Amino acid sequence: MKVISKTHVGMVRNNNEDSLLVREPYLFAVADGMGGYSAGEVASRETLKAFEAATYDLRHEKVSDPVEVLQGAFDKANLHTYKMAQKNNAYNGMGTTLTALYLPGDNTAYAAHVGDSRLYLYRNSILSQITKDHSYVADLLAKGKITDSEAFNHPKRNMLLQALGVEEEIKTDIIHFALEKGDILLLCSDGLSDMLRDVEIAGILEKMDFEEAAANLLEQSLDNGGKDNISLIMIYVEEDE
Ligand code: CA
Repeated sequence: MKVISKTHVGMVRNNNEDSLLVREPYLFAVADGMGGYSAGEVASRETLKAFEAATYDLRHEKVSDPVEVLQGAFDKANLHTYKMAQKNNAYNGMGTTLTALYLPGDNTAYAAHVGDSRLYLYRNSILSQITKDHSYVADLLAKGKITDSEAFNHPKRNMLLQALGVEEEIKTDIIHFALEKGDILLLCSDGLSDMLRDVEIAGILEKMDFEEAAANLLEQSLDNGGKDNISLIMIYVEEDE
């Protein structure tokens, strides 16, 4: 397995509200925080901290039901950040996305997800978005009210339907799927997927080798405006993982 992670403040923002978790070879996550002043940074960082603590068992022993552990870890991370937001005025209204990938080592992957950060799978030259954005625009798109292109340029594209830390309860999506040799998994924040269309991401993954592609995804996101913080974790499945 090869892993590369990158995060960049972008061309417009002054601070980076994205946080990454890279615990090879099992656990990877992207969190994209929101909130006034530094609250977004706090939300993503604190949520990842609580999430990592709650997934200790996944990394240290055989777990019979990873779905239950992931679901529980999302709930705990949500409550941790929610309580911080309630207790401290400076943190009122803060929240974060969380998209996590757990690789148990049996040639499968678990994605756990809330918000609009994304997990993509690139296999046999085809890029698929594994996670579904919990956003207003993704909903319109799913209902057929707007086109892909309208979604990409929609003024309300950053409006989330749920995030961690905002309410006491969340509904976490869990997706379990098989891995194949040669797969590339890409976790990213919307600072990347808002700047690059799926066809552009696929083009970069097609043309370049793994390291070059990771560098180029970041470069192209910056070249296309870099309007938000940009984060990515890329994993190359070399053999049975
Ligand atoms: Ca963002």
